[in-house]
Amino acid sequence: MLSLTNTFSGEKEEFKPLHLPKVTMYNCGPTVYDYAHLGNMRSYVLADILKRTLKYEGYEVEQIINITDVGHLVGDIETGKDKVEEKANKTKKTVKEITDFYTADFLEDLEKMNIDTVGTRFPKATDHIKEQIALIKTLEEKSFTYKISDGVYFDTSKFSNYGKLGNINLKGLEEGARVSINTEKKNGTDFALWKFSSVDDNRQQEWDSPWGVGFPGWHIECSAMSMKYLGETIDIHTGGIDHIPVHHNNEIAQSESATGKPFVRYWLHNAFINASGGAKMAKSEGNFLRLQSLLDKHIDPLAYRYWLLMAHYSTPMTFSFEAVEAAGKSLERLKNYVSEYADKNGSLSSEYVKNLKDFIEDDLDTPRIIALAWELVKDDNISGVDKKETLLEFDKILGLDLKSANKKVPVVVPSKVQKLVEEREIARKEKDWDKADELRQKISELGYEVKDTDNGSEISNK
Ligand code: AMP
Ligand code: ZN
Repeated sequence: MLSLTNTFSGEKEEFKPLHLPKVTMYNCGPTVYDYAHLGNMRSYVLADILKRTLKYEGYEVEQIINITDVGHLVGDIETGKDKVEEKANKTKKTVKEITDFYTADFLEDLEKMNIDTVGTRFPKATDHIKEQIALIKTLEEKSFTYKISDGVYFDTSKFSNYGKLGNINLKGLEEGARVSINTEKKNGTDFALWKFSSVDDNRQQEWDSPWGVGFPGWHIECSAMSMKYLGETIDIHTGGIDHIPVHHNNEIAQSESATGKPFVRYWLHNAFINASGGAKMAKSEGNFLRLQSLLDKHIDPLAYRYWLLMAHYSTPMTFSFEAVEAAGKSLERLKNYVSEYADKNGSLSSEYVKNLKDFIEDDLDTPRIIALAWELVKDDNISGVDKKETLLEFDKILGLDLKSANKKVPVVVPSKVQKLVEEREIARKEKDWDKADELRQKISELGYEVKDTDNGSEISNK
């Protein structure tokens, strides 16, 4: 039985999808005005562990990761500039050049982190303006909106459960909002659904709407795309904890006001990765490191993945190169262990597989699974090849690509054997199969085995 901590109740709850065997999952995606940083990657690793777990449990996962390419304002306040527009202006590029570049980079990062994107859809906010306008219209018809000089706003006082996710201290939020506040707003927590273009903005991205030319607010895209692709009520929605107070409470308010139905059944949030100074790693703080920063130091991105999995997703972590390098060493040892038995087939240890299932079903307890993997490696009662097989089963969840390490320890081949191998390659090129076989035999008599691969002959000790 899979149980997950639902931010909504604050409790571990048994997971039951709405429409078996399907699970619908929405993971708040990146705002593509800059590179994704290592903190952001934790969110997608959580989504990935969840997806792998759901698949392991036999569910079919329908997953959306949105691409925010409009409407996310600097400082997350209504008076802020649009992040992608600002970046385009600063760099004298088009918005499209900016968003295409950072989207492609993000997708490459997911691949480097071995994140399973099979079947995942990555819809862009700018491709769903029509759907967002339609949703705002519904809210307007139901009297949840009002129009002021800079846009159309959602009236949070009309949604009785506002702030329920994470039991937000609304007074604090109101006061925080007041600092930057647009005085025409009715309540500090009200948020823009549609913003009007202003003359000095000189925006590259703007659209007609029933209320005036402008662009959608940041929150509405997630509701519109979640509903379009996954339905009015979905099973799981994830993001970092920073999204709980405002973004996700706003998503709930506007979605549930529009449909009258629950928006999300299970909310999952990952804790922060802090920069080495202790502050949250953030694009806006400029204190961020990205996967490339690891690659520059010859650290495998999967070492970072291993390090992330060493803590539960709800535990804050402070980044350090030393810690990730140490995780990389452990990962290497596991990989070497697997490659040692690469060519042999064994069977799974049912006891360890049962524990694997128990631990992952207990709110995705990856640190216990990593510890279990090492217990397995050290277990004298299990044969090496069975350990390898069981580790590969663990890897279905962990996604550490343990198998890819099938690097053979380089074989030192005597020149006599090397010569025979080269002669055999020529014979094969000339399609002289008899001679090739004869040479294989000679090589074998000298204690070596030759295999034909796409990259030429591969030699190993017999
Ligand atoms: P953004 O591109 O800023 O909208 O963030 C993308 C995802 O990364 C969201 O789910 C954020 O909550 C999450 N996130 C942002 N900063 C961090 C951090 N330092 N640690 C963990 N998650 C983060
Ligand atoms: Zn979102």
